[in-house]
Amino acid sequence: MPKIYQYKLVLLGESAVGKSSLVLRFVKNSFSDHQESTIGVDKDTLKFEIWDTAGQERYNSLAPMYYRGAHAAVVDSFERAKKWVTELLRNASPNIVIALVGNKLDLATHRQVTLEEGQAYADEANLLFTEASARSGDGVSEAFIKIAKKLPKTEQQMAS
Ligand code: GDP
Repeated sequence: MPKIYQYKLVLLGESAVGKSSLVLRFVKNSFSDHQESTIGVDKDTLKFEIWDTAGQERYNSLAPMYYRGAHAAVVDSFERAKKWVTELLRNASPNIVIALVGNKLDLATHRQVTLEEGQAYADEANLLFTEASARSGDGVSEAFIKIAKKLPKTEQQMAS
């Protein structure tokens, strides 16, 4: 019998890297801004409650409440990704699933980090790695599906 699970997913990254745009693309399949979304994995339904920083990242860290109880995190773009991963590891559950998403793939000619560099850093830090474009939609659902597949389906996560 298919089950329904629910998770908290937090977004991290520098301002203007496209966090809100990625969520909007994923949740509503449009491009232009707390949202909820569902993903089907192996017949089960996984529901994400997605927390967006709402610009608080400009203070260079986020309130502990932001991380509390988070099951998954998307670190958007490579710019200072290490800083955000360090902050996550300090504040979030040790089991958190972290995905590094290189957004703005449509601007690939301006890219500052190669695919290989991104992948190497993600492998070293044990992160999922994907590239995406909130503008074109490429790679966006793939990023969230990758996360969904890594999340534990435990009793605790079952929706009541
Ligand atoms: P946030 O501050 O990280 O939430 O970033 P936003 O989602 O507000 O996006 C910042 C700016 O980048 C906006 O002008 C978006 O239109 C633009 N943007 C976001 N994603 C993409 C993308 O995939 N490609 C391009 N070209 N621009 C993007």
